[in-house]
Amino acid sequence: MKTIEQQKAEIVHLFEQKKISMVVAFENYRGIVRPVFVKDIKDVEKISFDMSGKQNLATYLKRAEIKKQFPLAMVVRPTEKSSIALLIKENQLKVEDVLLIESMVSQDQIEWKKAQDIEIDRLWKMSFSERMDFWKKNFQNCIRCYACRQSCPHCYCQYCKADKNQPTWVERSAHLQGNFSWNFLRAFHQAGRCIECGACENACPANIPLMLLNRMQNKITAESFGESDPKKYLLSDWSKDDDNSFFL
Ligand code: SF4
Ligand code: SF4
Repeated sequence: MKTIEQQKAEIVHLFEQKKISMVVAFENYRGIVRPVFVKDIKDVEKISFDMSGKQNLATYLKRAEIKKQFPLAMVVRPTEKSSIALLIKENQLKVEDVLLIESMVSQDQIEWKKAQDIEIDRLWKMSFSERMDFWKKNFQNCIRCYACRQSCPHCYCQYCKADKNQPTWVERSAHLQGNFSWNFLRAFHQAGRCIECGACENACPANIPLMLLNRMQNKITAESFGESDPKKYLLSDWSKDDDNSFFL
């Protein structure tokens, strides 16, 4: 693994050679680890390789103003790498658009997942109605701000069905019925795609434990359809030999 100084020197070199026009990374601003968008060699110093930032940096790659900066470089953890791989596979990015500068996974993320494992175990042991009550209690707090959608690199549709009102696909006001529809719609669209980065849960102002839903769905998906094939995606691939019995 390269030292931080070597990585910064590499970034400076990329700017000098005009191979990139921007670096997306994290900076430590007054103790807060937050995304930074570096466009100038003099600002390379701002980049912190402390990767405890809660955002998935790959989410910025779906924005038009960032796309204009391609090719750019990004300091990535395994989560950003996985999201970028998915975006390439789904034709949202080209390999040459983003140059990856690898960094370490944050210890915080590892501990966070261990705590989730305990909670997921508790949820699996509940009866169906107990689990339903758990989600009702959480979803009634949803304020439909869509921060979960905006923070996810994989939610990149230009027009989300949840925003449409002619016709209305999802009840738009923030009450329990519409909130259930919204949260399950979002989760189902991640089936076989969620890389468990946690950005959606971290962005949620209502503290809804979205990662429990994402990870439980991932487990069911893997059990029902097998571990994901790196060349295929559950939601975008089909075969005439698929089990279609649920249609009948
Ligand atoms: S945890 Fe899954 S659904 Fe949430 S932001 Fe990451 S990839 Fe998207
Ligand atoms: S971020 Fe939280 S409150 Fe906002 S729409 Fe998503 S689940 Fe609801």
